[in-house]
Amino acid sequence: MYLRQDTRPVKVGNLTIGGSNEVIIQSMCTTKTADVEATVAEILRLEEAGCQVVRVTVNNEEAAAAIKEIKKRIHIPLVADIHFNYKLALLAIENGIDKVRINPGNIGKRAKVEEVVKACKEKGIPIRIGVNAGSLENHLLEKYGYPTADAMVESALFHIGILEELDFHDIIVSLKASDVPMAIEAYTKAAQIIPYPLHLGITEAGTLFSGTIKSSAGMGALLSMGIGSTMRISLSADPVEEIKVARDLLKTFGLISNAATLISCPTCGRLDIDLFSIANEVEEYISKLKVPIKVSVLGCAVNGPGEAKEADIGIAGARGEGLLFRHGKMIRKVPEEIMVEELKKEIDKIVEAYEET
Ligand code: SF4
Repeated sequence: MYLRQDTRPVKVGNLTIGGSNEVIIQSMCTTKTADVEATVAEILRLEEAGCQVVRVTVNNEEAAAAIKEIKKRIHIPLVADIHFNYKLALLAIENGIDKVRINPGNIGKRAKVEEVVKACKEKGIPIRIGVNAGSLENHLLEKYGYPTADAMVESALFHIGILEELDFHDIIVSLKASDVPMAIEAYTKAAQIIPYPLHLGITEAGTLFSGTIKSSAGMGALLSMGIGSTMRISLSADPVEEIKVARDLLKTFGLISNAATLISCPTCGRLDIDLFSIANEVEEYISKLKVPIKVSVLGCAVNGPGEAKEADIGIAGARGEGLLFRHGKMIRKVPEEIMVEELKKEIDKIVEAYEET
């Protein structure tokens, strides 16, 4: 077990990553960054879903220029994803970016690295070093023969060394691989020797279904060991889905304090209601709530209330009606046609009471 809070705290805009802070959820825009309207619209959807930091590609001057306008219209820290081109990094910093993802060892001449580091220092902007198993430096591939966890950690240390030499320490590190065991090994080894916050990710994880499983397997193993200060689920899907998966994964480990949880039964022969569609509707309803309540949706009244004693509010199906219950105790019966609406009203009341405290 590693202690997440042992890492150095690093400020990113109005947030702090690492230290004693909760794991921060990130995503990345799928839009062309220069298309300000589309990018802002996507970021606002991500914010609503619970995204706390968002990254955009800065692959040309138009993208770097768009940062200024995007920043005015969003409410979460913005990160510039930059490969090699230090001038784009400088432009992004000038335009108000909150964090830069760039590998200093790939920038080129020392003077260029110094310029980026100086600009970051002046504005208090951190740098994320993004090691990726698929793009390791040639000298490491020559040394190890192929991508390995050790090669990834060595790559991270190589880039960290360049920044530390320049007395720069606002660093966040990721060691992403598509191979889950390799990523777990790399992050576990890094957690033992790197004092900076680790950004978790399983890269190119796949589609919504398979990518969720792969990411949860990899990041779940790491989170359970106390590794990871921030994370991104990478899916070939709407990035809002990445946020939903991340929030659920953090919930699984009790690492998020502002998310509602759904408890629902797998159904069996005792079922008297259309539980699958009800569970999906309720899940959608609570997915945007920012309070830690538990809601249960159970197929029958025989075991239902007892099976979800810890739920703040729940419903159990019965023939033609639903039983609303709180912490396992029934509060009233409602007709089946309005049971979901009634459940939502009860959820709203609990949320309201929570927000008033
Ligand atoms: Fe079956 Fe009822 Fe348990 Fe659901 S709550 S699995 S319907 S016994």
